[in-house]
Amino acid sequence: MQPLDPRQVRASIVNSSRSRIATMTLPAPWPPDRLDERDYLGWIDPKAPLRAYVVLGEEIVAEPVGVELRLADSTGPARTTLCDWCRTDDGTSTARLVVARRAGPRGRAGDTVGQYVCGDLACWTRVRRPLKAHEKSVTGAPDLRVDDLRRRVLEFVDRVRAG
Ligand SMILES: [Zn+2]
Repeated sequence: MQPLDPRQVRASIVNSSRSRIATMTLPAPWPPDRLDERDYLGWIDPKAPLRAYVVLGEEIVAEPVGVELRLADSTGPARTTLCDWCRTDDGTSTARLVVARRAGPRGRAGDTVGQYVCGDLACWTRVRRPLKAHEKSVTGAPDLRVDDLRRRVLEFVDRVRAG
């Protein structure tokens, strides 16, 4: 994805307050590495381990749009659920409940959107790992994992920003 500057990232968040966004800590290093492979920016706040963010860039949306997420406390029972975004389980991350407050009045009233996603938010790495032999299509159908990931993350962000 194209690099975003910190001001664009802060301005993109649709479901948080201005004062809360001011306390956002960007990932280090900044700008993030491997931007050419990333479909979105996704990171856990280095100073607030239960806060995370996902920001879509112009590859997916006309204007950058980002969402603040609350991570469920990981002390709960382990789940083997597949990630709702990348649908892969390579044994390197456990799907974890993330909850986003909806934008606008519904969010202020406490309405949220939740999904199970890879706890490190690095789905973009998993959809790029080479397919194993048994995962390859016998009919020669194209590998759509990247497109599917982008669509699912956008659907989630759209549900949040629709309020
Ligand atoms: Zn994932």
